[in-house]
Amino acid sequence: MSQIYVLDAGVLFSDWTSKIPDGLFVTTSSVLEEVRNRPSKLRAEMLTLLDRLQEDFPAPESLKAVRLAADKTGDKSVLSEVDIEIIALAHSKKSLGAITTLVSTDLAVLNTARHLGLTVLDPSRRFKHEIVWALKCPACKHKSRFRTTNLECPVCGTIMRRYVHKKHKSR
Ligand SMILES: [Zn+2]
Repeated sequence: MSQIYVLDAGVLFSDWTSKIPDGLFVTTSSVLEEVRNRPSKLRAEMLTLLDRLQEDFPAPESLKAVRLAADKTGDKSVLSEVDIEIIALAHSKKSLGAITTLVSTDLAVLNTARHLGLTVLDPSRRFKHEIVWALKCPACKHKSRFRTTNLECPVCGTIMRRYVHKKHKSR
């Protein structure tokens, strides 16, 4: 079975795909939508013509699993719907038994994917450790491991900031 690379928009904006002679690239329709309005549109079109890039969509169970994982890592507040879909697509492929690597330069995407046990690749090489985020209030210093989309401090109402709660060494 050939290797599948699930690509986010940032990777399609770069020339990373030209360095990978084998394997199949897949991405979501919302990522292609982002690419369509950029100069990298031509690259995506060429890859599609060469049968190397396919459009696919994640299974609903995978979307659920990704949201749950992003809650746990604390990345949920910075992940867009497009981000969640691309991680979920990689999760779906893996669930079907494919050999899948999620390629992204977005640290929150990589972090959540890693937490789900997916193989990740960061062409920018900035992603080193899996991080668990927590929240801290810059005003009253209240700390919270309880992560919701509501970022207001329960003590004083200031918008809390993310900080690194735990780092795991990359596997
Ligand atoms: Zn506070």
